[in-house]
Amino acid sequence: MSEATPVLQIRDLHKAYANLEVIKGVDITAHRGDVVSLIGSSGSGKSTILRCANLLEHSQQGDILFKGEPVTWKGSGHAREPADPKQILRIRTNLSMVFQQFNLWSHMTILQNVMEAPVTVLGRDKAEAEASAHAYLNKVGIADKHDAYPAQLSGGQQQRAAIARALAMEPEALLFDEPTSALDPELEQEVVRVIKALAEEGRTMMIVTHDMKMARDVSDHVVFLHQGLIEEQGTPDELFGNPKSERLKQFLSSTA
Ligand code: ADP
Ligand code: MG
Repeated sequence: MSEATPVLQIRDLHKAYANLEVIKGVDITAHRGDVVSLIGSSGSGKSTILRCANLLEHSQQGDILFKGEPVTWKGSGHAREPADPKQILRIRTNLSMVFQQFNLWSHMTILQNVMEAPVTVLGRDKAEAEASAHAYLNKVGIADKHDAYPAQLSGGQQQRAAIARALAMEPEALLFDEPTSALDPELEQEVVRVIKALAEEGRTMMIVTHDMKMARDVSDHVVFLHQGLIEEQGTPDELFGNPKSERLKQFLSSTA
């Protein structure tokens, strides 16, 4: 792969649920080290784009390229689906998702949560996976919680555990879907700090967020979606400092 090949390219993405077209032709590119934020009202299609990118949802039209390699499809329209199970696995493990509701496994300790996929999906040696799990828990500031169960942690700690779990897959990029929306304001900041640190170390990330301050602070590129289309995009300074479209202006004043 040449350095110029993007980690993730979404081209002309179209997605409908039954007859409801929710993504109507969207292009987004993330190069290595880019932080791309997706903003927009509820229902504008942000989560759907992330889920289509890592193949949790199947789009009906358009290309998704991971490190220059296009997803191979079979079928067409609503019957279209990725054709190659190995490619699906490669893309899923390399575009690691962090969800709003953490989605930790409640019957496993925090350490087991972080070790599970590297061992079972990637076939890592258990002792090595355990050592890296401790390192990732340390990185997100919850090294002392390894023996706790998710229910014993605060929301902010659970989300940081979920970030450690995503990092343990050593993905090419991290996809965040409203990572701070389920958290009380005082716990949001501990997660924002972790995301900022990841941005500073040059991680490639796509972040759906309602937190405009975080989007402004961490992003290289911001995409404003409206009803399944990109209404405006640019640098954080352009979008937040000098919004052009009336819809974006309205959206920003509603979130201020
Ligand atoms: P956002 O993340 O920006 O709030 P979503 O991507 O979740 O928006 O949703 C975009 C649109 O798709 C909305 O109209 C939503 O109701 C619809 N939608 C999302 N998921 C489904 C689904 N599983 N079945 C049917 N409609 C859905
Ligand atoms: Mg959403």
